[in-house]
Amino acid sequence: MNGMYFTEEHQLFRESLKDFLKKEVVPHIDKWEETGEIHRSIWKKFGDMHYFGLGYPETYGGMGLDFFYSVILLEELQKINSGGFAAAIWAHVYLAMTHVNKEGNDDIKERYLAPSISGDKIGCLCVTEPFGGSDVAGMRSTAVKKGDVYILNGSKTFITNGYYCDYMVVAAKTNPELGNKGISIFIVDKETPGVSATKLDKLGWRASDTAEIAFDNVEVPVKNLMGEEGKGFPYIMQHFAVERLLMGINAHARAEYALEYALGYMEERKTFGNKLTDYQALRHKFADLYAEMEMCREYNYSVAYRLNKGEYVVKEATVSKLNSTKMADEVIYHCLQFLGGYGYMEEYPMARLFRDSRLGPIGGGTSEILREIIAKIVIDKKEYKSPLD
Ligand SMILES: Cc1cc2nc3c(=O)[nH]c(=O)nc-3n(C[C@H](O)[C@H](O)[C@H](O)COP(=O)(O)OP(=O)(O)OC[C@H]3O[C@@H](n4cnc5c(N)ncnc54)[C@H](O)[C@@H]3O)c2cc1C
Repeated sequence: MNGMYFTEEHQLFRESLKDFLKKEVVPHIDKWEETGEIHRSIWKKFGDMHYFGLGYPETYGGMGLDFFYSVILLEELQKINSGGFAAAIWAHVYLAMTHVNKEGNDDIKERYLAPSISGDKIGCLCVTEPFGGSDVAGMRSTAVKKGDVYILNGSKTFITNGYYCDYMVVAAKTNPELGNKGISIFIVDKETPGVSATKLDKLGWRASDTAEIAFDNVEVPVKNLMGEEGKGFPYIMQHFAVERLLMGINAHARAEYALEYALGYMEERKTFGNKLTDYQALRHKFADLYAEMEMCREYNYSVAYRLNKGEYVVKEATVSKLNSTKMADEVIYHCLQFLGGYGYMEEYPMARLFRDSRLGPIGGGTSEILREIIAKIVIDKKEYKSPLD
């Protein structure tokens, strides 16, 4: 436990969360990875344990706790080795619900935040479109106001929880000629006529459903507009900072898990009469990887600390995701190598971890886009103020 950031209460929470995951989730993971469907009952169990409400207001059933409780949730989810299950949970809590909490009015929070915290409703965030994900402002979906509804048309892709969710937080252009100033955010019930979702097959994150979604003349009630019309782009950008830090934290946690597992294996496995941990080539490689992981973990904690204090940590979160996801891929590649042929087998955890980790440098802003943001801040001296200030 790092006493600079974690108290004894945090540690007790971590232990009880680990017990819960071991009992309620781990026994089912292989099945969910195979079927690509997480059993609905687990959502309610998470809700009953208040895991969806850690940082959310008590008025809606949340716990109002500091950000380090969320750090613990993210870390422990990575350590049960199903990037897909972890993604389903954090996309609900930190992508969809963040928007509902920040931009939703009391009525929306009553209808969507409270049941999201209790585990009765599952949410997703729909930003990416088939014609381009990195260029958020280039989205083509439109929402045209007609009386007391908006008529939503367009399509989204690669949406985590998009197939099994109950509601979607959707970005669409209410004023296309205004470019990024013409984007608004809506809540759309999944069962609304005109909404259809198709499940996508993918390399990793196999327990999580990733969907392509079409909106065909979908009538969205005006009361489901979130925040102000035309403010969607700043809302999305504001929350990207948090999402990128989350993905950085996920990355250091899965690298830590890979190292812990590999070390246990290397202590048991003998070749030429020696343990693998006796070979200097492997010891030094392990030490290098551990050092990289530790640098990222400590950096991520310090950024989490600043975020928790209310700072807008856009540069730091960008650095966190860029470096930590690169580090995790490198660590997991070599940990798989430490296991030799067993590393390549599905019976051992490295194969899944290797697949799942590859999404790190892609989702929520690719590494190329992150480098561009850092270059703009550091080289061009561009100031990224909180878009909502
Ligand atoms: C499993 C999975 C889950 C996802 N979940 C969600 C979700 O829940 N909600 C959601 O909205 N989205 C989600 N995404 C989408 C994800 O955020 C996008 O895939 C990502 O932002 C990249 O967009 P793209 O795939 O359209 O790639 P593109 O934007 O087409 O980019 C293609 C390549 O070109 C590079 N590139 C693009 N522009 C530039 C540039 N200016 N300079 C240099 N290089 C550039 C990119 O880095 C990339 O390597 C998910 C994706 C996956 C794979």
